[in-house]
Amino acid sequence: MDIQLALNKVRATIPDGVTLVAVSKFHPEEELMLAYNAGQRVFGESHVQEMTRKHEALPDDIQWHFIGHLQTNKVKYIAPFVAMIHAVDSYKLLLEIEKQAAKCNRTIPVLLELHIAEEETKYGWSLDACRQFLNEGEWRTLQHVQIAGLMMMASYVEDEAQIHAEFQLASDFFDEVKRDFFADDPAFSQRSWGMSHDYLLAVKHRSTMVRIGTAIFGERVY
Ligand SMILES: *Cc1c(COP(=O)(O)O)cnc(C)c1O
Repeated sequence: MDIQLALNKVRATIPDGVTLVAVSKFHPEEELMLAYNAGQRVFGESHVQEMTRKHEALPDDIQWHFIGHLQTNKVKYIAPFVAMIHAVDSYKLLLEIEKQAAKCNRTIPVLLELHIAEEETKYGWSLDACRQFLNEGEWRTLQHVQIAGLMMMASYVEDEAQIHAEFQLASDFFDEVKRDFFADDPAFSQRSWGMSHDYLLAVKHRSTMVRIGTAIFGERVY
């Protein structure tokens, strides 16, 4: 895999204004540096220990996005440096991010993870649960987290129509939530959807952040 070539190919297909999060989980630091040297500054990781290690080893101007499922007891390790947490799926996690961000004197941007795909997963808010959570309003008291948008993963299926429908649902839900809860908050602006196999569809459905690993770094070796 020529990482710099692959990175440039991906970049050429992403519209202006869409942030490319280079998902580097399970890839060694040397490979991240190839992308870095080609100008990439936003990297996505999904394991706390691995992200912390890479943050210490690699240049300071990298923005580290945590994209995986985050356990509350591990928030403290990434709170000092994480640039965005994509997959916030409970109020409990939000409260812990608030607490740890306060200790670091920071405000951490987060995205609420929606569960739209048909796959069985424990993670993410159903649309109704997300509406209810936002309606209850306790999140408005948080000072050190900034709810900056929504994140989701589409089903991993062949059926393109289904993937379209799921991205469209997420896109419509973004507009609803923006109108009902964040109309006066310009920071609520991000739609994190699209991975290697479906990001071209995702950008048609107004994705503002694509999380792309395999298409840049090749297959992961677990
Ligand atoms: C691993 C991962 C990605 C990247 O997946 P690719 O298929 O390698 O592009 C994107 N989002 C999340 C949440 C991931 O865990």
